[in-house]
Amino acid sequence: MRDLYTQVLMDYYRRPKYRGRIEEADVERRLLNPLCGDEVTVYASLSDGRISDLRFEGRGCSISQASAAMMTERLLGKTLGEARAEISSFEKVMTGEGSFPEGDDLAALQGVIQYPSRIRCATLAWHALEEGLKAPDR
Ligand code: ZN
Repeated sequence: MRDLYTQVLMDYYRRPKYRGRIEEADVERRLLNPLCGDEVTVYASLSDGRISDLRFEGRGCSISQASAAMMTERLLGKTLGEARAEISSFEKVMTGEGSFPEGDDLAALQGVIQYPSRIRCATLAWHALEEGLKAPDR
């Protein structure tokens, strides 16, 4: 099981679909995780109450970058309300409340909960988008 999850994480880490930046993004938020040396910048375009484009740039450990890749794939195209709900349920699981459904790629991150110093790695990109949606730049 552990190997399967490692494989899922490495797939996202090596082949993120939405890596890159958006010029003149409505949301641009950079967050750091100094404990691990991770860095993530999230870019989002908003239109008609939806996330019409979503990208990230960053560097750091495989957990932080794989989680950013998962976040962008999952939330692109969602309404702002749906995105907020998904972010908050993600954060709940990462603080030990409930769990991701079996077969959900996010379940690959669940093992991180056993290593409190790595939780910030997994939540970094999600927090960046959450903060950005609260106060869009444009
Ligand atoms: Zn990290």
